[in-house]
Amino acid sequence: MDNKGNVFSRIIRREILADILYQDDLVTAFRDANPRTPVHILIVTNMIIPTVNNVTSENEIILGRLFTVAAKMAKKEKIDTLGYRLIVNCNQHGGQEIYHLHMHMLGGRPLGPMLVF
Ligand code: AMP
Repeated sequence: MDNKGNVFSRIIRREILADILYQDDLVTAFRDANPRTPVHILIVTNMIIPTVNNVTSENEIILGRLFTVAAKMAKKEKIDTLGYRLIVNCNQHGGQEIYHLHMHMLGGRPLGPMLVF
C-alpha cells in the first residue's frame, strides 16, 4: 500500500496545515479537524504503519511513545485529572478512515458509555 501521500504523512512533513501540538522523532500530535469532543487530539506514528494488524515487536518503542505523549498531552490540555478516552480504530469494523496508525485522545466532557449501539 502506498501511503506516502496519505493525509497524516503530509501533515507530519508539514506539507498541509494542521494544529500541531507536539512532534518528536517518533510521533506527532495534532488536533483532529473534525473534533467529536472539546479536546480531540490525534497522536500519530511518524513512520507509516497502516493498521494495528501491521504492528511488530520492532515497533514497541514507537507504540510506547504514543502513550507517553498521550500523558503529556493530557496534562497540557488539563484533562488528566477528570480523565479522557484513548481509541485506536482498525479496518472496516473499527471505523478506520486513515490507514496510518494513530491514537485518538478524547476528553473535555463526560464521555458516557464506551460504545453506543
Ligand atoms: P480514523 O477513523 O480512526 O481513521 O480517524 C481519522 C481521523 O482523522 C478522523 O477523526 C478525522 O476527523 C481526522 N482527520 C482527517 N483529516 C484530517 C486533517 N487533515 N487534519 C486533522 N484531522 C484529520
